[in-house]
Amino acid sequence: MSEHNQDKHKARQQKVKEQVDAKIEQAQEEKGILQVITGNGKGKSTSGFGTVARCVGHGMNAAVVQFIKGMWECGERNLLERAGVPFAVMKTGFTWETQNRETDTQAAQDTWQQAKLWLQDESIDLVLLDELTYMVSYDYLDLDEVIEALENRPAMQSVIITGRGAHRRLTELADTVSEVRNVKHAFEAGIKAQKGFDF
Ligand code: ATP
Ligand code: MG
Repeated sequence: MSEHNQDKHKARQQKVKEQVDAKIEQAQEEKGILQVITGNGKGKSTSGFGTVARCVGHGMNAAVVQFIKGMWECGERNLLERAGVPFAVMKTGFTWETQNRETDTQAAQDTWQQAKLWLQDESIDLVLLDELTYMVSYDYLDLDEVIEALENRPAMQSVIITGRGAHRRLTELADTVSEVRNVKHAFEAGIKAQKGFDF
C-alpha cells in the first residue's frame, strides 16, 4: 500500500470507529431480546442452540422447547441436558409427515403448556422455542395466546423462535429477525442428513 493509500485507509477506519462508538454509546437499554430466525436455508435451529450454549456458558439458565420431534436423536439435547438445560419435546410421534390433526394439536398444546411456564419464570434467562412457527401456521397453537405470553414474559428474559414462514405478527413483535436464505443444500445433491452435522 502506498503512503497515500495508507493514510486514506486510516482516515476511513477512524470514521468507522467513530460511527460504531456513537452507536454503542446510544445503545443503553437493557432488556431481554425476542429473536425470530426464519427462512428456507439451513442454520435456524443450530443458531438457536448456539445462543443456548452461549447463555449456559455464562452460567445462566436456558430452557428448550422442541415443537417438532425429529426422526433422529438430537445431539444438542444430549449435550445440553447434561449441562442442566431442561427440554420439553413434543411427544406422540409428531414428525414432518403429520397425519392426525387431533393428536398433533393435543401434543402441541401439551408442549405449549410447559413453554408458558418457562415464559413466566424469571429465573430462566433464555427460552428457545424451536420450530414454533409451524404450530402457528397449522393452527395448532393460537397466535394471540403465543403473542400474549411473549409480551408478558419477564423483562430480562430472551426468547428465540425458529422455523420457516414466521408469521408477520411474530416478526413485527421481535427485536431481532434473521432470515436464513437457501443458496444450496447437500440434500438436494442426494447427500443424506449426517449425524453430528445435521442432527
Ligand atoms: P439446522 O437444524 O441444521 O440448523 P434448520 O433448523 O435451519 O436446520 P429445519 O427446517 O428445521 O432447518 O430442518 C431441519 C433438518 O432439515 C436439518 O437436518 C437440516 O439439515 C435440513 N434442512 C434444512 N434446510 C434445508 C434445505 N434448504 N434443504 C434440505 N434440507 C434442509
Ligand atoms: Mg430447525
